[in-house]
Amino acid sequence: MGIAVTGFEFFDEGALVSVLTTEPLGRCLDYRAPEGGCLCGAFVEVPLGPRRVLGVVWGPGEGGYDPCRVRAVNRVLDVAPMRDDMRAFLTRVADYTLTPMPAMLRLATRAPGLGDRPGPRRVFRRGRADPGRITDARARVLDIVDEYGDAAFTQSELAALAGVTASVVKGLARLGALCEEDAPRDLPYPRLDPDLPGKSLASDQAAAAAQLRAALVSGSYGTTLLKGVTGSGKTEVYLEAVAACLAGGRQALVLLPEIALTAEFLARVEERFGGHPGEWHSGVTHTERRRLWRMAGEGNVGLVVGARSALFLPFRDLGLIVVDEEHDTAYKQEDGVIYNARDMAVLRASICSAQVVLASATPCLETWANAESGKYARIDLTSRFGTAELPVMRAVDMRGENLQPNRWIGRTLAAGIARRIAEGEQALLFLNRRGYAPVTICRACGHQIGCDHCDARMVEHRFLKRLVCHQCGDTKPMPETCPACEAKGRLAPVGPGVERLAEEVAARFPDAGVAVLSSDLFASARALKEKIRDIAAGGADIVIGTQLVAKGHNFPLLTLVGVIDADLGLQGSDLRAAERTFQLIRQVSGRAGRAGKPGEALLQTYQPEHGVIRAILSGDEEAFWRAEAEERRVAGVPPYGRLAGIVLSSPDVAQVFDFGAELARRDAPLRRVGAQVFGPAAAPVARVRGRHRVRLLVKAAKAAPLQSALAEWIGQLKVPRNLRLSVDIDPQSFF
Ligand code: ADP
Ligand code: ZN
Repeated sequence: MGIAVTGFEFFDEGALVSVLTTEPLGRCLDYRAPEGGCLCGAFVEVPLGPRRVLGVVWGPGEGGYDPCRVRAVNRVLDVAPMRDDMRAFLTRVADYTLTPMPAMLRLATRAPGLGDRPGPRRVFRRGRADPGRITDARARVLDIVDEYGDAAFTQSELAALAGVTASVVKGLARLGALCEEDAPRDLPYPRLDPDLPGKSLASDQAAAAAQLRAALVSGSYGTTLLKGVTGSGKTEVYLEAVAACLAGGRQALVLLPEIALTAEFLARVEERFGGHPGEWHSGVTHTERRRLWRMAGEGNVGLVVGARSALFLPFRDLGLIVVDEEHDTAYKQEDGVIYNARDMAVLRASICSAQVVLASATPCLETWANAESGKYARIDLTSRFGTAELPVMRAVDMRGENLQPNRWIGRTLAAGIARRIAEGEQALLFLNRRGYAPVTICRACGHQIGCDHCDARMVEHRFLKRLVCHQCGDTKPMPETCPACEAKGRLAPVGPGVERLAEEVAARFPDAGVAVLSSDLFASARALKEKIRDIAAGGADIVIGTQLVAKGHNFPLLTLVGVIDADLGLQGSDLRAAERTFQLIRQVSGRAGRAGKPGEALLQTYQPEHGVIRAILSGDEEAFWRAEAEERRVAGVPPYGRLAGIVLSSPDVAQVFDFGAELARRDAPLRRVGAQVFGPAAAPVARVRGRHRVRLLVKAAKAAPLQSALAEWIGQLKVPRNLRLSVDIDPQSFF
């Protein structure tokens, strides 16, 4: 909607201001600045019809309304105004992803109760008076107060932090060692100390850290790929970059793909910097989210660790963004505002002169290519820290394993497992399939139980005692009789999921402790974290896991990884099938072996001669990337060309195909920039939640002005009310 980003100006009371709200209006609205005036960028509450809505003062009013009817801003919220760089960032993301600005503002204000007027409350700070007699409990309270510097605490917070009763706090206040006052609700985060000594680094680690430190000291934008196998010390190295950033007085953000990883990471931050960073993800309380949002804006939090949406926090002065496991698909937000946090991190950093570190053992091809072309710097950590060796990797040709029906562990792998657990070590069996069995078939009529709302089979989850649709989440109890022919007792599972594999393991290794790691088996992130900690401490002999286990957990006792079905990911027609399989299997295999214990990875496959399997085994990654890159270059697809996916969905199948066909016919705006449109075609998953899905794919040269052409193209047609259209720039998945 063409919003110009203007300076940090002040508007006097009554001046016309233009306000961007979170309401889907398609434009800014004019208001009058409130009593006392307001800054450009101020968060405000404005009247809209009978309601009051959240907005940001975006610039001078545009005029053109009846001046008598322009209403006044209700109030300015007591939070730091949105800075120019943030407004520029939101605008650029909106332009890139074709997202309306109100939706961007919603993404940037996802802190519940931002607009609430928090009543002041009684808080305690360090007082001047001598407390006299110092008991243990009193000393603990004063230590906490000192540690947090200038911060204020409520009575209960302070008592909890110090592990004392409220009366100790009250007693210190009576003595004047604490002073009591009324203060707003949110507290700054404790200052992290970048000068505490880090671990002593190995020479390649030290060189890598020095290069990142130098980049940070430059104070300019730059992106570095930090590539290194699991265990090579990437985290140690980028923590040095965080230290340099904090020492320079700027803020740092570390993005992690998985909340379950944060516990381990927080412990490392605490060890390195002597305190906790701010945390931003779905497992954080509302109060804490609000506090972090405000403190980010005030510059009162040095380091934030978070999920992808932390990228939209209003940092006052962001100097570093680390994207750990940068290849992870979790960085792609697939609904609402469709964006890739890795790419948007680079954008944000380029706007605010920050450094980006993309850390991975198996970077995505886009990142690899950007490093090849010199757009990104690249640092390689080639060996594991200490004496830890990379695992030996071998393919097991399943054609020679004589597998019994309904068994998935071949004799070679079974022998390996038996050997490891006899040594008191752990084995991990990787199968990227949640549930008990992916298909349930009727042995009488051949019917396969499908979802009523989707074009997908229901997956049996025996632990939950239900059938579950992995597309829409719908569940139903396992029927006794076939829904098609009504035969009784003839329904049978086909194929393995992790739960079924666990049955086989229990039958063949009756004395082994078995743990299954699959996201659906845990009621909460906390329970999952607990389990991971337990496994790391040796609480299981055999771990069975989905791709959840591929992500950076350290299991020091783990020495064998068995990939149950290495062919699983190679079947799709997806552009990234080869890359994904390569990454996933290399990642999972990297879990085997740690300091002093060499590991082994066995890949069960029916096609050991397949190019991807051979590349995984040979370990010649550069050759793999070069071959993949060449294929993509020839096909003109990312990173050597651009793609946009358009998904149309509607309950009415004819309507959605007609609309798609009409769009495809009117492709003149695309042709003008040399782009081509393919489709409409039924999407690979042709029905989800009762809505029929149709897909168009737009392909353009790398330099083509794709977004403006797409906007013009889509803008030609009015989208009917029950039809949904979403645009996915740089699509990752093709479902
Ligand atoms: P990555 O992030 O590449 O997987 P980490 O940074 O997690 O690697 O390092 C793997 C393990 O080795 C961790 O337990 C880490 O504490 C340890 N480690 C790495 N470098 C050092 C070092 N220089 N000194 C001591 N321990 C180290
Ligand atoms: Zn479904």
